[in-house]
Amino acid sequence: MMLETVIGLEVHVELNTEHKLFCSCKNRFGDPLNTNRCEICEGLPGAIPVFNEEALIPSVKTALILGCGVEEISRFDRKNYFYPDLPKGYQITQFYRPFAKDGKVYLPKAGKTIRIREVHMEDDAAKIVREGDKTTVDYNRCGVPLNEIVTMPDFRSGEEVTEFLEILRKDLKASGVTDGKMEQGSMRVDVNISVHDEGEEFGTRTEIKNLSSFKATYKAIEAERKRQEEIISAGGLIFQQTLRFDEDKETVEVMRNKENSDDYKYFPEPDLDDVIITEDFISEVRADIPELPSVRSERFVSEYKIREEDAVILCGDDKLADVFEKGAKKTGDPSVCANLLVSFTGETGKVPDAEVLIAVSGLLKEGKISSGMARTLLKELFENGRDPYEYIREKDFLMITDDGAIEEAVLQVLGEEENKKAVRDYLQGKDKVLGFLVGKVMKKLKGRADPEKTRKILTDNLVRRD
Ligand SMILES: [Zn+2]
Repeated sequence: MMLETVIGLEVHVELNTEHKLFCSCKNRFGDPLNTNRCEICEGLPGAIPVFNEEALIPSVKTALILGCGVEEISRFDRKNYFYPDLPKGYQITQFYRPFAKDGKVYLPKAGKTIRIREVHMEDDAAKIVREGDKTTVDYNRCGVPLNEIVTMPDFRSGEEVTEFLEILRKDLKASGVTDGKMEQGSMRVDVNISVHDEGEEFGTRTEIKNLSSFKATYKAIEAERKRQEEIISAGGLIFQQTLRFDEDKETVEVMRNKENSDDYKYFPEPDLDDVIITEDFISEVRADIPELPSVRSERFVSEYKIREEDAVILCGDDKLADVFEKGAKKTGDPSVCANLLVSFTGETGKVPDAEVLIAVSGLLKEGKISSGMARTLLKELFENGRDPYEYIREKDFLMITDDGAIEEAVLQVLGEEENKKAVRDYLQGKDKVLGFLVGKVMKKLKGRADPEKTRKILTDNLVRRD
């Protein structure tokens, strides 16, 4: 039996707006508990919501980024349920007529396209804050505008889901839709997952709610996939249930048996008008979307011929991508710039100035420093903020190309007792130890020797001693 996993996502994205969706309370994370609240977002009887059009800009951006068609007319509905974080007793969402439909996102690593079923606007619930044995409901989050992105069940693995979420987060963040701060709940993921025998119909799905990091999402998928596979392999049945992922134990627990849409008794929100989105408005929003990280990284691969994984890393940060592009243009050596930057940010998590990158890659290209030295130099210059050329002259950083100096170091290394075995091994045909000996010479010359020259002088001397 070959089991296949089928996954669909619902991603909740908090929109970057000044105010909440249906009142004039501030939409702001981190304020003291219950300071941004009013009779509308608290759902007091008789309070009438007013749609905040500010939310349309990030919403239409989301739709365009996901390649969705934007509906001219959409509408809000009430989703009725009772929960302590929902004072109105219903959530205002777009159930019957979402504002955006039928998009797609391409995943380069997986080499496949994920279809987007729809995007709708809705208001967030309040937040339940637990501290010790005290529980508080914080209404600051109640009414914060959300976009819910609903995908088709097109994912077949946790890796594909992670790739999708990373692309989504980068693109939405770069275009200002959301701040993308997962740790503050700006993106929350619900996972629908089922397992079935390949070639058969899809299995019964379960839903894992409210995952707040990509790592947790991946681990939850793995845990639930394994659980379902074990049950199915043993001939058991999967029940339609809503689950919670316990991050510490890395297991899923049943929250409740899954409700169907009937249970929510949806009906059109009587207090709100239709939402109208005109073609002109869509064009204006489109003109305001910058080149997206996903588009930019594809361009870097085709225009600069750098490796795809490097392009993805570089485009993960606008500033880093800008520095790369400046460096690549100025030096005419994109792959050197990409290598230097990827290793630099990988180690430090920082972005160097373009001028420093250009100076260092120029020296590398002219053969004045080795690539190892280039990495060190980039780090030192970042820390001390010095002028690259001045610093190099002062520190005597340039590569040693003088044969005599290298040969002296080579002879020292070959004469040392601790290296005798390596020399013998080499002469007996073990070419691999050459790298070890090159390393020893390099260390003596503080990494400043020309590696090619060192290798040659070393082999010449090894042969002569034969
Ligand atoms: Zn309010």
